[in-house]
Amino acid sequence: MEYPLVKACIDLDAIQHNVQHLKQMIPGQSKFMAVVKANAYGHGAIRVAQKALKSGADWLGIARLNEAVELREAGIQAPILMFGYIHPSQVRVAVDLDLVITVYEFEMAQQLSREARRSNKYVKAHLKVDTGMGRVGMIIDKTDKKPSCQAAEKQREIKQSARKKAVKEIKKILRLPGIDLNGIYTHFAAADSKDKTYTQMQIDLFTSLLEDLRKEAVDLEVCHAANSAGIIRFARSHFDMVRAGISLYGLYPSFEVDQSKVALVPAMSLTSIVTAVRNVPKGFYVSYGRTHKTQKPTRLASIPVGYADGFSRLFSSNGTMLVKGYKAPIVGRVCMDQTMIDVGDIPDVKTGDEVVLIGSQGNKTISADELAKKINTINYEIVSALTSRVERIYS
Ligand code: PLP
Repeated sequence: MEYPLVKACIDLDAIQHNVQHLKQMIPGQSKFMAVVKANAYGHGAIRVAQKALKSGADWLGIARLNEAVELREAGIQAPILMFGYIHPSQVRVAVDLDLVITVYEFEMAQQLSREARRSNKYVKAHLKVDTGMGRVGMIIDKTDKKPSCQAAEKQREIKQSARKKAVKEIKKILRLPGIDLNGIYTHFAAADSKDKTYTQMQIDLFTSLLEDLRKEAVDLEVCHAANSAGIIRFARSHFDMVRAGISLYGLYPSFEVDQSKVALVPAMSLTSIVTAVRNVPKGFYVSYGRTHKTQKPTRLASIPVGYADGFSRLFSSNGTMLVKGYKAPIVGRVCMDQTMIDVGDIPDVKTGDEVVLIGSQGNKTISADELAKKINTINYEIVSALTSRVERIYS
């Protein structure tokens, strides 16, 4: 029988709490999308999606087709928007799964339309516009973002003509058979940064495009822009729907986001156990590469967590784990399946003791944010990196 050595414990009440509190920040008529891509940022897509929907979420957001298959096979019927690229050969599956796909250029829409018609189907779609993220999407502003580079009047003209072109393209997509385009969205590049001006510019640009579309009697039902930082920091970005990712999991998008605006509860804790404790002398080498040598006689505990679980190798001799309510330093290199901690100063550590990598033990806590800071990344990566080998336990 399987005995889980590493467990990600997911508190579904925290998911409910976060949905409800985030929803209080948006207008009553705005829809709430729970972004459950990447296995719900490592939390487990099916259980999180089910709980989020029960707690008031209206839509689900995913990145890849296989993520949609998993949700639909679990019997989830809510509207699903796929953010990522869809190959024309996948259109049929997308229709069968009743997905809303993302379209970001006319040629792509044309191909998808052809494929949909071939199977005598309609594929639902939202158009992605690039207001400054610089990733994918129809570009609707080709001007330099620093106004000093061009005369303001000239810049306005260029912006208007870029929007005009976009409106024309959108109208062309609307005329394509086999595609039911009923939404439009954009994504923020820096809504979690201290300086709010870039996001204000993105919101302005998106709003101007929506106005231009309305003037041309183009009415797209669902207009959306806000990610977690948008929800918390930019009320003007809420439009018809918001897309909550990291905040759904109780984590803040960055340290710049004022945490007093909404009280989020982290949903994940990550635990393991001690699988060996050994007394070792001074001058004892620990783990691959002999990068750590004990400075005095001590005790080492082995923990069955490694980079194949998604626990980064960058934590080698760089971080702590909680055991017996104390923070024990990681020593030597993180291996694929095991990591060593020094428990020389911690009384009575023995095989089987609980070890906390993320979460609280006694009065000590290690947060995903703390881990992220240690290895110069973001909390998003810490939680979504956990692999399928880590057992998810729900409470
Ligand atoms: N919308 C889109 C298109 C995304 O790609 C993401 C995540 O990257 C989100 C919303 C959610 O963002 P966040 O996790 O910052 O809330």
